[in-house]
Amino acid sequence: MKTLTKYIYFNTKNRIEFVNITNQIEEIVSESKIKEGIVLVNPMHITASVYINDAESGLIEDYKEWLKKLVPEKDYKHNLTGEDNAFSHLMRTIMGREVTIAITNGKLDFGTWEQIYYAEFDGQRKKRVLVKVLGE
Ligand code: ZN
Repeated sequence: MKTLTKYIYFNTKNRIEFVNITNQIEEIVSESKIKEGIVLVNPMHITASVYINDAESGLIEDYKEWLKKLVPEKDYKHNLTGEDNAFSHLMRTIMGREVTIAITNGKLDFGTWEQIYYAEFDGQRKKRVLVKVLGE
């Protein structure tokens, strides 16, 4: 079995920001030369998510509004530790940790409209995402 492990880095301008990383993952899969296998993509942080869905810009705004409704501004117990990012942890839990995508004939084997997103909930600092490709 062949493997390739890479890290990609983010430092978003906004504290909450969604970044389409599909092209970066495709490039890493191509570099791996793996034709049949899987790729795992996960943030190395508990205040960011990787998820798969549509790249339609209205939907991205819908996610942000929906998350703000689900995670209202209030005095969370986590913030008593001196942190101010309880909402970031909660949003990450809603949007999930990682994705795994099949590789078929050297390409990401997506359904129609599927795109890979990095969702940052506590940005404006350096963060990294693990990309691990496994297969033959
Ligand atoms: Zn925290």
